[in-house]
Amino acid sequence: MYNKAIYVIVDSLAIIIMLITMHALGRIKEAYGKWLKFAMLFGIFAITANIFVAVSVNETMAAVSYCAYFSSIDWVILFLFGFCVLYTNHDVIYKKTRHFFAVLMLFDTISIFLNFLFNHQFYIYTSQNEYGVTFFKTGFYSFYYLHLALDYLLILLSLILIIYRIKKSYSVYRIKYLLILFVLIFVILLNLAYMAFSLALDASVVFYGVAGVLIFFSITIFEPRSLMLISVTRAVDDMNEGLVLFDITDTCIYANSFAKERFSMDVSDFSFSSEPISSILKRMGKTGNVYGDVSFNQKVLKGKKEINVYYRVKYCPLLDRRDRHIGSYFLFEDTTEETRYLDALTEARTNADKANQAKSAFLANMSHEIRTPLNSVLGLNEMILRNSEDKEIIDYANNIKQSGAVLLSLINDILDFSKIEANKMEVINVEYNLHALLRDIKQYFEQLSLEKNLYVNISCDENLPTTLYGDEKHLRQVLSNITSNAVKYTKEGGVSISVRSKRRTDKKLVLVFDISDTGIGIADEDLKHIFDAFRRVNEAQNATIQGTGLGLTITKELIGLLKGTINVSSKQNVGTTFTIEIPQEIADNTPIGSFIYKPISQSTPYKESFHAPNAHILVVDDVMVNLKVVEALLKRTLLKIDKATGGDEAIAMCKEKKYDVILLDHRMPAPDGIETFKVISKEGLNTDTPIIALTANALSGAEAEYKEIGFTDYLSKPIKSDVLEELLIKYLPKEKVELNK
Ligand code: ADP
Repeated sequence: MYNKAIYVIVDSLAIIIMLITMHALGRIKEAYGKWLKFAMLFGIFAITANIFVAVSVNETMAAVSYCAYFSSIDWVILFLFGFCVLYTNHDVIYKKTRHFFAVLMLFDTISIFLNFLFNHQFYIYTSQNEYGVTFFKTGFYSFYYLHLALDYLLILLSLILIIYRIKKSYSVYRIKYLLILFVLIFVILLNLAYMAFSLALDASVVFYGVAGVLIFFSITIFEPRSLMLISVTRAVDDMNEGLVLFDITDTCIYANSFAKERFSMDVSDFSFSSEPISSILKRMGKTGNVYGDVSFNQKVLKGKKEINVYYRVKYCPLLDRRDRHIGSYFLFEDTTEETRYLDALTEARTNADKANQAKSAFLANMSHEIRTPLNSVLGLNEMILRNSEDKEIIDYANNIKQSGAVLLSLINDILDFSKIEANKMEVINVEYNLHALLRDIKQYFEQLSLEKNLYVNISCDENLPTTLYGDEKHLRQVLSNITSNAVKYTKEGGVSISVRSKRRTDKKLVLVFDISDTGIGIADEDLKHIFDAFRRVNEAQNATIQGTGLGLTITKELIGLLKGTINVSSKQNVGTTFTIEIPQEIADNTPIGSFIYKPISQSTPYKESFHAPNAHILVVDDVMVNLKVVEALLKRTLLKIDKATGGDEAIAMCKEKKYDVILLDHRMPAPDGIETFKVISKEGLNTDTPIIALTANALSGAEAEYKEIGFTDYLSKPIKSDVLEELLIKYLPKEKVELNK
């Protein structure tokens, strides 16, 4: 009994293992998993039948159990064969044979159970072992060997397929097939032993449990793991980056091909004290614990030339799943190409910046140089206008004045453009009155529009605030540019400017200007180009209209500077509307009221605004004709004017005489205006005399710069006689000035 109990216990254990394995086999999604599961299921039947054989109480029970056992083994082998066929990727054989063998197995199973009728497969006999325990054993007839032959045929076919696959595959894959081969051979050996020694029970069935576990382990854990390890190692070796791994004791455990080749080292050569690791660690600060990125370069011989190879190195800790420190790694990324590319890019950028600066400097210089002679042309022309009685000559001089104004506005555009390019444009916010600004615009364009017989209408929301705070100068420039274009590109009708606000709060609002004309309009395809620098659209039609194609570029940049927007809509031969929105702050919220404009007569002849026969001024300029211009412009004010053609001469004169105002040119041969200013304001009689910088330097911020140096005020060339007179009234001693009303 003792013997039988052992059989039952071992068999039951095998069943439990197989049940667990079957459950685990559910994870295998491939078709062969299903076949293995069925083989297991019939294995469980076979073992159960085996238990019944062991515990049989009579021959009939033993006969039924043996039938169940033999037929279960048939199906185990059939499903195992199916598994082998699929697992070794012989899908064609599977498709062609599965029905055939299934039918054979079915016949075989029937034949086994028919043993009850024909006694052609096996007979039962009892035998006692040395402990006196009775077993029911089987003896075989010839048909049993047919059943055995069928089973062995399938096992043989499985073996052939597996051996064939082992020969065809390599390393990791070979191992998984070998395992299956081993399991099959073991099953056969145990079965043979059972028959050869006529054992009471077939021990091979017990091995099914172990076999199931082994196969499951091979398919789900061993194979993917080892495959992954091999694949990752290969991929890391093929990487275009160097990888060096260290364990927790800082001993190198792996270096990929890239690292080994680049640093001509082997795994054992990499250590924290060897190069390049040691200098990388030093660069990171403290040896050992500081992780991060660092870059380093190495000189390498390429042919006969020594070249620099750059690396970005990442030094990182290696942690396990529970964040425990298990080592560290270095990753070397070759950044030579990237560094070269960046260097080339930086160089190209520096060159482009230099070229751009040179261009801006050239433009600024040119406009400065053009302003100087223009000063004399316009100044002396003014004298002709003032002094001539001859109508024809006055007409010529008026033409010179107009052309001069156009030339000046071109120079100003170029100067503005170069300032924008050099990022020198600054926002200067002041308090201003919107009506005053609009009046100036209207007055500025009145003469021009009258000549072309156009109207310029301005309407302004009466509820807008009286005083706003913003960059009035640039806003004025934006409106002038757009209005000037509107007048320029309109032949009939006129220009309407309307002003309103939106998003108004107590402190802020967005000013909206709609400037519409009834002019030639802009074609749809040209609309997107109108803001491009130096680009004029519809050149054929506009050939006779003066322009540089810079006005709108500057306007757009200025609006950007003021954080506003500009939009345009246009219809050819109907007209164009520019809508400008600019955020402004509110200084005084009182409603501005209705916009009233009183036209100022344009053709008032010149009349000096003051007389100061007792005042004495000094004008310093190295260009004689400029001195002549100032003298002529101020002739009717009766001022006493001393002239100096250089800094030294001016300093000498200032030591002798006390002046009421000094007009001092900036650009002169040494000492220049600024040096002269410093000497005059420190020594001599004129330390507290107002000194006004007189210069063709009209760059943005120039005025502020001169004032910072200490100049009392600033006057740009070409000199406008009304501005000059205004300044003198402001700075001459009040008692010496007699205003001319
Ligand atoms: P330009 O100095 O040529 O006037 P702008 O930059 O001011 O240069 O304008 C660019 C182009 O846009 C002009 O050449 C003109 O063809 C077109 N344009 C600008 N404003 C108008 C307008 N109000 N009506 C028709 N065309 C315009």
